[in-house]
Amino acid sequence: MAIIKTEAITLRTTDFSDTSQVLQFLTGSDGVVSALARGSKRPNSPFQGAIDVLTLNEIVYYQKRSSLHELAEVDQITTFPGLRCDVSRVYCASYAVELVYLLARDTHHPKELFDLLRTTLYTIERSRTLPQTVISFEIAALRVAGFEPMLDHCTSCGGAIRNQGCTNFSPLQGGLLCSSCSAEVTDALPVAPGAVSIARALAGGISKPARVKISPKQAIDLRILLDRFIETTLGSRLKTKQYLSRI
Ligand SMILES: [Zn+2]
Repeated sequence: MAIIKTEAITLRTTDFSDTSQVLQFLTGSDGVVSALARGSKRPNSPFQGAIDVLTLNEIVYYQKRSSLHELAEVDQITTFPGLRCDVSRVYCASYAVELVYLLARDTHHPKELFDLLRTTLYTIERSRTLPQTVISFEIAALRVAGFEPMLDHCTSCGGAIRNQGCTNFSPLQGGLLCSSCSAEVTDALPVAPGAVSIARALAGGISKPARVKISPKQAIDLRILLDRFIETTLGSRLKTKQYLSRI
């Protein structure tokens, strides 16, 4: 039975009994890991009380043959306190955690996904432009998982897409469409002028998000586009998606 020591972000917690929890962590080495924390809810437990979601920890666990491992130690690194004093930040962080949880099933790059979520949670703590931060995170997470939307060329004919004017996006094809191809695609969504260049700018990175101004119309279009694309790509609707309309 191997003993693993790693940094881990708590994604989900479930009561296993009156005194114990089952925890799901995102780790850089093994993606999502489930572990039983025996006695974690006892005040004098070695874990110093129940373990909360949205925390970054260094954990030690015994790797079992089953999918449920056993937690041995938890050393808390941060609870991301900047998140917890603002419900909008909690909404964004909860959405990020759910999206990462679903993408982690498919990614071959758990370390990149772990690093991205850790950076994103630190960024959400202090971001003054939460909608832009969320979009930057979504595009980056999709890229790590191999689902990056095509924003430079038409997904149908490969032609270049200009920044000016209206264009269309196909969730099924996973990217933008030129005007010629838009008429032939049944799921084409109109995208407001300028929204494409904003999406490209926000795709530049989560830790240094581009300072871009988004009009209400562009924000609505980008939100619809990403919601439909993520739903089509993952084949499921995120429960926390509704939170994004409240940030
Ligand atoms: Zn085309």
